[in-house]
Amino acid sequence: MAKRILSGMRPTGQLHLGNLLGALQNWKKFEGEDAFFMIADWHALTTEYESHPKIKTYVIDVLIDYLAAGLDPERNTIFLQSAVPEHAELALLLSMITPLGWLERNPTYKEQLRERGGRSLGTYGFLGYPVLQAADILLYQADAVPVGEDQLPHVELAREMARRFNHLYGPVFTEPQAVLTETPKVPGTDGRKMSKSYGNTIDLSDSPQEVDKKIMQMATDPARKRREDKGHPEVCPVYFFHTIFNPTHHEAVARECRQAQRGCVECKREMASYLVPYLMPIYERRAEFEARREQVRDILVAGSQRARAVASQTLARAKDAVGIGI
Ligand code: SF4
Repeated sequence: MAKRILSGMRPTGQLHLGNLLGALQNWKKFEGEDAFFMIADWHALTTEYESHPKIKTYVIDVLIDYLAAGLDPERNTIFLQSAVPEHAELALLLSMITPLGWLERNPTYKEQLRERGGRSLGTYGFLGYPVLQAADILLYQADAVPVGEDQLPHVELAREMARRFNHLYGPVFTEPQAVLTETPKVPGTDGRKMSKSYGNTIDLSDSPQEVDKKIMQMATDPARKRREDKGHPEVCPVYFFHTIFNPTHHEAVARECRQAQRGCVECKREMASYLVPYLMPIYERRAEFEARREQVRDILVAGSQRARAVASQTLARAKDAVGIGI
């Protein structure tokens, strides 16, 4: 029997190469399973509540990125979290049985509070986002949740909540399993982790000229000041992309770099000659979808209806088990 899969992304801007290599390409491997892919707009609001007018636009942008990356809406259920109100209702129900300590020890919560010190994340919604995440997963009785290592504690929390609920009220929820996916730490153009908040992304919506320009301006080994300096490819973001997009020659690139037999400009040019054609079909598909945003929106409406049919059944069972409702 096909496995039920659930995963999603927050609509906080256009998706980039890091999202493609870290998540979307892994999701495609689940095609043929019973996969649900969510655009998590409630989750966007937990941190972006001040830039809320942009969220609706980003929802369609992210949907277009999903489709351009090759996710097939006929073979997967692609839906919008807020269009399935059962997510909010189950989150409220689960919040009744979630000890505060479970949320306060969440490593991502602590890290984000530290990192975004200037902005107020001391909200009830942000503290409680793992409860919403558990609701997202449990509503679909997902067997498997593809995640990177940093997301493992969230799936563990969803498992704990399922166990606690089933123990208190009777068996309703499937305990989900985390499926650890290979998620390379993709460097951005400045060498730090690729992230919208650092402004160092190569976006799926970037034209080939923009991608080319960004590659040519990319940081390299900071110790290599002159052409004759020997390089350290292992710390160079350009080399990282050689390992992915130039798999048959990257060892030669590393050797030549270490012996100062290649210059960074030619090295970047070569990498661009692999990366740009790789991204080109995504860029072209993206432009086609972009030209018909209204029809694209209909895909999300249809997917959300399909998701709701599943979610409403689970929620009814959960409320029945607790003994609330008419
Ligand atoms: S030669 Fe290539 S791998 Fe070496 S530092 Fe320059 S860009 Fe990076």
